Amino acid sequence: MRRVALVTGGMGGLGEAICVKLAALGYKVVTSHSPSNAKVGDWLQTMNHMGYGFSAYPCDVADFDSCRDCVAQIEKDLGPVDVLVNNAGITRDMTFKRMTRNHWDAVIRTNLDSVFNMTKQVMNGMTDRNWGRVINISSVNGQKGAFGLTNYAAAKAGMHGFTKALALEVAKKGVTVNTISPGYIGTKMVRAIPREVLESKILPQIPVSHLGKPEEVAGLVAYLASEEAAFVTGANISINGGQHMF
Ligand code: NDP
Repeated sequence: MRRVALVTGGMGGLGEAICVKLAALGYKVVTSHSPSNAKVGDWLQTMNHMGYGFSAYPCDVADFDSCRDCVAQIEKDLGPVDVLVNNAGITRDMTFKRMTRNHWDAVIRTNLDSVFNMTKQVMNGMTDRNWGRVINISSVNGQKGAFGLTNYAAAKAGMHGFTKALALEVAKKGVTVNTISPGYIGTKMVRAIPREVLESKILPQIPVSHLGKPEEVAGLVAYLASEEAAFVTGANISINGGQHMF
């Protein structure tokens, strides 16, 4: 039986690597994208030309009703979601002094409310079937904080509390809930950081002296989604080149 894996933000740097890895392992992979994303057709064509067989559905992860409608359609078309990877996210980095309510809300809604919005749609099905995996992509900056990231650090730290609390509630039902906290990974989100900031401020903080690769995060997702990871729940797994250890 091929399990269905839903990866939010699958067209992004980490999301695409996660979709590719899960497809290679035999999952039926479906991703969601922003309703305004005009590149989805080209992306799907390119990926499916390579043989991945992805499906993609529009969904604003910050909007509960959009998530409800999206997951209902996916389950109708492909079957129940067995693995949910809450990966979609945005940044609006700036000092607290400059941050407006809109900057705060956008990041909390997209990075944290989204985890509730999506998980809510799939959890009853997972517990009814006695099997499920929820994997939340958080950040090293939710573990240790970072200058100019009060909104993002708060959202990503919130994921940890959500993960641990929900893991307790569903543990007896064969459903695991875990968080992965990547450090700086070489995706578009990180390449948007000015080069001089990356070289003078960020790389010197990373003991291995280079950015991580999306494929390395995807490998962890694949492990947490697997049968072998049934005993791992409520965990937060760091993948950060030694930048932050505890
Ligand atoms: P990208 O910017 O490349 O991808 C983000 C994805 O999120 C896009 O596919 C985007 O879809 C989707 N997205 C954003 N807003 C919405 C929305 N409202 N509704 C639906 N989808 C949305 O980022 P990365 O791949 O780098 O990051 C992926 C995740 O990993 C994020 O949660 C990020 O915080 C986290 N992370 C990344 C790190 C890194 O170093 N790159 C480090 C630590 C954590 P669309 O293009 O369709 O808008």
